[in-house]
Amino acid sequence: MTSTDVVVIGGGQAGLAAGYHLRRRGLDFVILDADPAPGGSWQHMWNSLHLFSPAEHSSLPGRLMPAQPGETYPGAGHVVDYLTDYEKRYGLPVRHGTRVIAVRRDAGRLLVETDTGTWRARAVISATGTWSRPFLPAVPGRDVFTGRQLHTVGYRSPAGFAGQRVIVVGGGNSGAQIAADLALDGHIEVTWVTQRPPRILPDDIDGRALFDVATARRRALDSGRRDTGGVASLGDIVAVPPVRAARDAGLLTAKAMFSRLTADGAQWPDGSRAGADAIVWCTGFRPALSHLAPLGLRGRRGHIPTDGTRALGEPRLHLLGYGDWTGPASATLIGVGRPARDAAHEIAQLG
Ligand code: FAD
Repeated sequence: MTSTDVVVIGGGQAGLAAGYHLRRRGLDFVILDADPAPGGSWQHMWNSLHLFSPAEHSSLPGRLMPAQPGETYPGAGHVVDYLTDYEKRYGLPVRHGTRVIAVRRDAGRLLVETDTGTWRARAVISATGTWSRPFLPAVPGRDVFTGRQLHTVGYRSPAGFAGQRVIVVGGGNSGAQIAADLALDGHIEVTWVTQRPPRILPDDIDGRALFDVATARRRALDSGRRDTGGVASLGDIVAVPPVRAARDAGLLTAKAMFSRLTADGAQWPDGSRAGADAIVWCTGFRPALSHLAPLGLRGRRGHIPTDGTRALGEPRLHLLGYGDWTGPASATLIGVGRPARDAAHEIAQLG
């Protein structure tokens, strides 16, 4: 067993931002990451994915993301390069290829059990993201459909769908971008299906504006004023270039959600049908928290109740990233720096 001040679980952007601030506090720590290579979930995203903010608005603490030549909105590969460089530049002690299985309490400390051994720590920061927990809705007929079904996490590019009829399910950014990616290919018949009418943001609103809204909300909450609301009030879908191109070409018209799948397609409540060779489920994610189950902290909707990043039921545990419930915009590159700093500060005060 190895002892340290802090074990950070997850070496994506949230884990690296935590490492940056733990180092500044002079704490001894290790970052355990299940992926064999740096970059967190960005290394698994689809080929045409672009950030919804320019590089300089997508930076972790301490180091601006350099612009990607020829692109206003950097691609996922550029983010992987940036995170790889960030890890090296700050000499962050990331152990790739190490999966955490369980976290348990042990005589005033936390034990972190991995597939390669156990760590003992004064505190743990869990930053495992959501990518490894894709969510699929329970839709009648899902097991009857004989075509191909994949989730966002399994989608890479239009290759392999040529000449096919594909239904893309989901009215968020992933659904819009993947529907656009497939439709712009020109050889695929795409039906985009959303639960509510999709709301594409005005072209001049990108991740910068969304971050400003999140910041205003945080200020309001911090000073005890009324909650100004999250980014959801503005719309759901950022009009990144492929989404704009598909929309302007009339290729991004959504249909209402179907009521069931059949062996060869989908059926709507009015009885109408569409044949399909494949369904791409862009239906979101849940936080990857199973390693924390032994602590018995799960609250509503699978979240762990927190005050800021600190788990209410376990003061030695902090949660970073995941979604707004661990701090406004904490699941974004630019937004995770502040909660990471606060977590490191609180951990430094622990006995
Ligand atoms: P991840 O990147 O998922 O990293 C988690 C790490 O934890 C992984 O390396 C994983 O291997 C590891 N891990 C998981 N479980 C374990 C375990 N049990 N033991 C050890 N390690 C483990 N944000 C922006 O700022 N701008 C954007 O434009 C933007 N676009 C997005 C587009 C899409 C399609 C998606 C899905 C998200 C986007 N985001 C964007 C949001 C956000 O930046 C990403 O979700 C981000 O990857 C979250 O970072 P993270 O470090 O919390 O998690």
